[in-house]
Amino acid sequence: MPLEGEHELDRALRPASLAEFTGQAELVANLKITIQAARERGEPLDHLLFCGQPGLGKTTLAWLLAKEMGSEIFVTSGPALASPKDLVGTLTRLGRGDILFVDEIHRLPRSVEEFLYSAMEDQAIDITIDQGPSARCLRLSLQPFSLVGATTREGMLAAPFRSRFGLVERLAPYPVEDLVCILHRAAQSLGIGLAEEAAVEMAGRSRGTPRIALRLLRRIRDRAQVQGEARIDLPRAREGLRALGIDAFGLERLDRELLMALIARGGGPVGLKTLAASIGESVETIETVYEPFLLRLGFLSRTPRGRVATRRAFEHLGQPVPSTFQTLAPKQKEGIQEEFDF
Ligand code: ADP
Repeated sequence: MPLEGEHELDRALRPASLAEFTGQAELVANLKITIQAARERGEPLDHLLFCGQPGLGKTTLAWLLAKEMGSEIFVTSGPALASPKDLVGTLTRLGRGDILFVDEIHRLPRSVEEFLYSAMEDQAIDITIDQGPSARCLRLSLQPFSLVGATTREGMLAAPFRSRFGLVERLAPYPVEDLVCILHRAAQSLGIGLAEEAAVEMAGRSRGTPRIALRLLRRIRDRAQVQGEARIDLPRAREGLRALGIDAFGLERLDRELLMALIARGGGPVGLKTLAASIGESVETIETVYEPFLLRLGFLSRTPRGRVATRRAFEHLGQPVPSTFQTLAPKQKEGIQEEFDF
């Protein structure tokens, strides 16, 4: 999760145009067509949903859409909207073609989600004034606007809500070359030299995530600055990564704690709630931030009875592999059952 101040860094290092947005080529091509078509028709963009892990660029894309369309963007988030009345002011202020960006849209209460249906489809909302016998229902017209939602948990969105988005785009983790490119651009904006090998090393340990790559760059730049260096070279990058506790695979302290919590219980299976409690993190953070990466690396798997550390995890952390791992069939060993959601 980004810390205070990291949001400002995110903003400062945001690409200035869609052309400067690195990677996600197919998604960007789709957006360009949607933008051009909407512009030619003089209409607002269709409602759009971005899905993907934190830090992959969903918010950035929402800002870039507003910029390309020459419209205003109003930013809010699912947890900030407790009831429909929290949205009335914003919805009625939206001008024609403006963007309402709702981050963590899967966390909208059902009442707010349903309130948005008529806003999205009919550009109108129904509000109740007064209470008791004198209560009246009033229909307010809105300017045609675009709802842009971002979610890390697409599966949590109700089907009727999801189907109201004309475009659903998924952001994938970035390959190292894209992250290298993002790092070079950011180093230039920050006014620090960055050797190619150093950029590759940092990119390879950034879990495919621009926000993490940029965070590492800033931390390592701080170290270079304090040491009076104007350039980050490979030894300096490695030294910084070591000091930050990021290992060769990009695992952080909490990833290792999570795996060690499983290993301490013979590798699992351990229920998600128990796991969360044992490392002092929320279930949602584990599911959206740590787990997808550990699954991708093959260090963790999901079984109907809970999470399991794989043989690879034991080996990576230098822990003796339990004898049961030697005798079980490969399927049982790994217990891979991705479709289960606990
Ligand atoms: P999300 O909304 O998905 O959590 P953000 O849009 O806040 O992610 O992106 C996090 C940081 O990474 C920002 O500083 C953003 O500018 C940068 N970033 C993300 N994707 C890209 C990209 N494709 N090119 C350049 N910078 C990017």
